[in-house]
Amino acid sequence: MAEWEHLIPRPTSRFLRVRCISCESEQIIFSHCSTKVECQMCGEVLAEPTGGKAKINGSVIAVLG
Ligand SMILES: [Zn+2]
Repeated sequence: MAEWEHLIPRPTSRFLRVRCISCESEQIIFSHCSTKVECQMCGEVLAEPTGGKAKINGSVIAVLG
C-alpha cells in the first residue's frame, strides 16, 4: 500500500472546477464541503452541504483528482 493513500479521506470525494451561474468566474470547490461555498467574485452560493456530497449550484466544468 502506497504512503499517499492514507492522505485521502474518502475515495469518492473530489475537487470540482465550478463556473458561477451569475458572473461566470471559475472556482475550485470540494465535492463534500461541510460549509456553504460562495463565489469569490459575486457572492453567489456555489455549493451547499447536504451531509454527504454537496449540492452544486453552478456548472461543473471539470473534476480534478
Ligand atoms: Zn459569481
